[in-house]
Amino acid sequence: MTTTDHYAVFGHPINHSKSPRIHQLFAEQTQQKITYDAQDVPADHFEQAIRSFFKQGGKGLNCTVPLKELAWQQADSLSQRAKFSKAVNTLVLQEDGSILGDNTDGLGLVADLTINHSIALLNSRILLLGAGGASRGIISPLMEKSPKQLVIVNRTVDKAITLSHEFSQLGDIYGCSYDDIKNDQFDLIINATSASLSGELPPLPDNILAQKGCCYDLAYGNKPTTFVNWGLAHNAEKSLDGLGMLVEQAAEAFYIWRKIRPETRQIIDLLNSERKNIK
Ligand code: NDP
Repeated sequence: MTTTDHYAVFGHPINHSKSPRIHQLFAEQTQQKITYDAQDVPADHFEQAIRSFFKQGGKGLNCTVPLKELAWQQADSLSQRAKFSKAVNTLVLQEDGSILGDNTDGLGLVADLTINHSIALLNSRILLLGAGGASRGIISPLMEKSPKQLVIVNRTVDKAITLSHEFSQLGDIYGCSYDDIKNDQFDLIINATSASLSGELPPLPDNILAQKGCCYDLAYGNKPTTFVNWGLAHNAEKSLDGLGMLVEQAAEAFYIWRKIRPETRQIIDLLNSERKNIK
């Protein structure tokens, strides 16, 4: 008899999540028998929700905004990349009953930027907006691609500066405020704030996107996000949202859980065509 393993994504808010659909498509493609649902879990219920999920037989969890740094604290052990980033987006039940924390966000972002969209990172100047859990997970994989410089800006400036110090051994990383970048220009601007989730835009100066520069919003929706529209209005060569990253990071999580790697291209194409048809 084959059993059906249960997985879920926890976050708050969570109603926008496409993760259940993506994992269902992966399961069909790879003929795995799983269920996967989205659960609204605010930060103050997180610890209790994780414990009860695994106690009831759950095999693995994804954690999204605002839970990634908390998930890092809750895991019994950590993969190397999660240990370094201090943020966890994937929890895995181990054979001994303990819970391993991993982070697949950075790998997902870099795969979408460089493989799916042919955006070169070597020697580029990258501006990273936001200093939360998502930023923590993507800095190291971005630096592996040898950009010239990574500048981190955040509403709460101290967090940007702290992050830049924490990761400084990886290369030229500088943390500052939105005011400090007024006279600067970047080849790639990555929005890792949660501003798009409420239709807001970080306070970006007007002339900071270099000619032929690209914009990438980690957030995604059925319509272009506020930041994707900002990129288009500022003549970005490409202005993309995080749907591709979402599929790529999910594929890596699926691989960790099921030891089988789904093919992502056809799923990204399907989700893109589905959202075009939503009025
Ligand atoms: P966190 O809650 O950990 O961090 C949020 C960050 O956004 C903080 O730096 C916060 O600044 C900043 N912020 C929030 N609102 C504003 C605003 N109006 N203006 C400027 N800055 C703002 O969230 P995460 O890091 O986990 O997630 C960030 C985003 O990335 C979310 O939209 C999430 O959906 C998306 N994401 C997408 C993924 C994908 O696969 N496509 C994967 C991971 C994340 P402050 O510190 O000052 O509060």
